[in-house]
This record gives sequence, C-alpha cells and structure tokens, in this order.
Amino acid sequence: MAEENINRIDIKSLYPDELKEFIKEIGEKPFRAAQIFEWLHQRRVAFYKDMTNLPAALREKLSERYPITFLKKADCLISKKDGTRKYLFELEDGNVIESVFMKYHHGNSVCISSQVGCAQGCRFCASTIGGKLRNLKASEMLEQIYRIQEDTGERVSNIVVMGTGEPFDNYEQLVRFIRLITNEKGMNISVRNITVSTCGIVPKMYDFADEKLAVTLAVSLHASNDETRKKLMPIANKYTIAEVIEAAKNYYNVTGRRVTFEYALAAGENDSDQDASRLALLLKGFPCHVNLIPVNPVDERDFKPTHHEETVKFQNKLEKNRINVTIRREMGSDINGACGQLRKSYIDRK
Ligand code: SAH
Repeated sequence: MAEENINRIDIKSLYPDELKEFIKEIGEKPFRAAQIFEWLHQRRVAFYKDMTNLPAALREKLSERYPITFLKKADCLISKKDGTRKYLFELEDGNVIESVFMKYHHGNSVCISSQVGCAQGCRFCASTIGGKLRNLKASEMLEQIYRIQEDTGERVSNIVVMGTGEPFDNYEQLVRFIRLITNEKGMNISVRNITVSTCGIVPKMYDFADEKLAVTLAVSLHASNDETRKKLMPIANKYTIAEVIEAAKNYYNVTGRRVTFEYALAAGENDSDQDASRLALLLKGFPCHVNLIPVNPVDERDFKPTHHEETVKFQNKLEKNRINVTIRREMGSDINGACGQLRKSYIDRK
C-alpha cells in the first residue's frame, strides 16, 4: 500500500484480508487484525479505547490516524401504530441520510440509503430533488444498521437497500457492504435476507448476477411501455423495458433468486387496464414477483396515488394472468412522507 493510501484508510470498510495487510503495513502483528475486525463488526464499538484486548500504544496509534466511521443520530420518528422508526443520521462531513426500521412477524428489517441524494431524477421521488451529493462508503451503510440495532436493542435480520440513492451507481461499495454485513465474524446476516433495489442499470444487473451473492434483486419498473417509463424515469432513455427484463431473467437464471418488480401506481399515468394487460404480457412465464405501491405523494411533484379499488383491479388483472403480485403493506403511515422527505425537511430547516 502506498503511504497516501494508508493515510486515507477507512478501517471499517476493509475486508478481513485487507485489514490484515494494513495491520502488517503499520508494523503490527497480523493476529491483531482479527481482533480489530471483531471489535468493529461483531461488538460494534465506536472507539479504539473500548478494544480492551489491544495494547494501549496500538489503540492510541490507531485512534490518532485512522478514525472509526461513526454515524450520529440526528432525529428519530417513531410510529405509534406499528413501531416503524425513521432515523436521520449525520455523517462526519455534516451531510444527513435517512434509514428506516420496520418490525415484521418474520423479523426486523432496516431500509438503508446507499448515497447522499440521488442522480437518477425519477419524477415521483423526493430523494433525487437536490441531486446526488456523494456515494456512501461501505462503513456508512454498515453503520446505519449497527446504530439502529444498538438504538432499538433489537436484532436486525433483514436489510433492504431501498432508501435514498441508486445502489448500482455505487457498485463497489455496495458489494463490499454486502460481503461485510454477511461475514460470519461480523453481523452474519443471511445473504438471502438482503434485497437490493435498482432503477434498472442493465450492465450492473449482469455484473451483480456474477457476484454470486444470491441477494434478492428488486427492479423499479413503474411502467408497461417505454414511452410512459421515459416520462417517469430518465434512466428509461438509456435502457428499454425489454433490456431490463432480459437482465432480470439472466439474474434469475444465474442466481436462482426470483426477481421482484416494483410498480408505483400513479393515477392516470400508468394504472390503466391496458397497462395491467401489457405488464402481464411482458412478464408472462417469468417466475417473478410484482409489488404494487400506490405512489406516495411528494410536495414538489404532482403525482396522485391510484385509489385502492383501482389498485385491487390492477392486481386482479395480473393475478388472472398468473402473475405473483402483492400490494405493499403501508408501514408507519403516521410518520410517513415518502422516502427522502425527512432528510429534505431537515435540510430546508437549516
Ligand atoms: N434507486 C433504487 C432504490 C431506491 S428507491 C431504485 O430506483 O429502485 C426505492 C423504491 O421506491 C423504488 O422502487 C422507487 O421507484 C420507489 N419510490 C420512490 N419514490 C416513490 C414514491 N413517491 N412513491 C412510491 N414509490 C417511490
């Protein structure tokens, strides 16, 4: 490792073998690496001073030069209805991000952000309004889960990368995050309990299949033809629906994991009977899952959610065509506001 690279090390984002390499480079005994990894990812301490089995001199050296990435809780809204919690975390550079904790009967789930803001510009989404400020480091993705588990005192078993940001625009750190959170010497979360949601960056969908991670892939489709999709999602100008579905089929073939298609229903935009028929035709014979979500209104956007009866009609039409479909259950409706709105109101207040 070159001197300047060592100085910029983010110790919490390193794989065990990289950590070992780093420890050797700074002139310490290699076995210290495993101890440090455990402190960082299993016991999840915030300071080197708490790593009690390390020599004092080493603790001091590390804390002077290699600060441990840590997120500060800036705000937390708790739903009185179902215990859902929306967290606002402050990063070390003063930026803020949102994460959500949800309780389900099959376990607790955390929805994390992968970027500060987002560059994709989907028309209905609040996270993209201020553009993308920067990518999150793997450690900052891990920290959202570590801090929430600490704050709630409850075991987190499921992770969805569906908060602010396009995870495939931060590919390297995303994969690093997944390998670290599933490490048996760390949180040891089952890879099968992780879902990554993308707006459909086709080449990255192929790369991700080759990582052989067996993560559930969710693809934001939101339209039944390219013309409508282009109106909702700028990424549709780059990749056609046919290309997106082809890449999803490849993901299924390589990993054996069923892909989920997300479809946010906006009144008069993408929710007609014809839309349902076209969608059914697109997905015919592909073992996948469709998740319908009435669009969450955002102040700055003028999309209206499809009414419940219409949503059920849309669902029925897909079901008649033997497509596996659910309407997403609304969590924390009393602290709602679409993703990104807590962060936005915090920034506006400042
Ligand atoms: N960039 C990724 C993941 C973040 S968005 C992606 O596009 O998939 C997570 C999901 O929420 C996506 O399906 C996104 O399209 C959807 N979404 C964003 N804003 C929404 C809104 N106002 N109402 C309903 N769904 C929304």
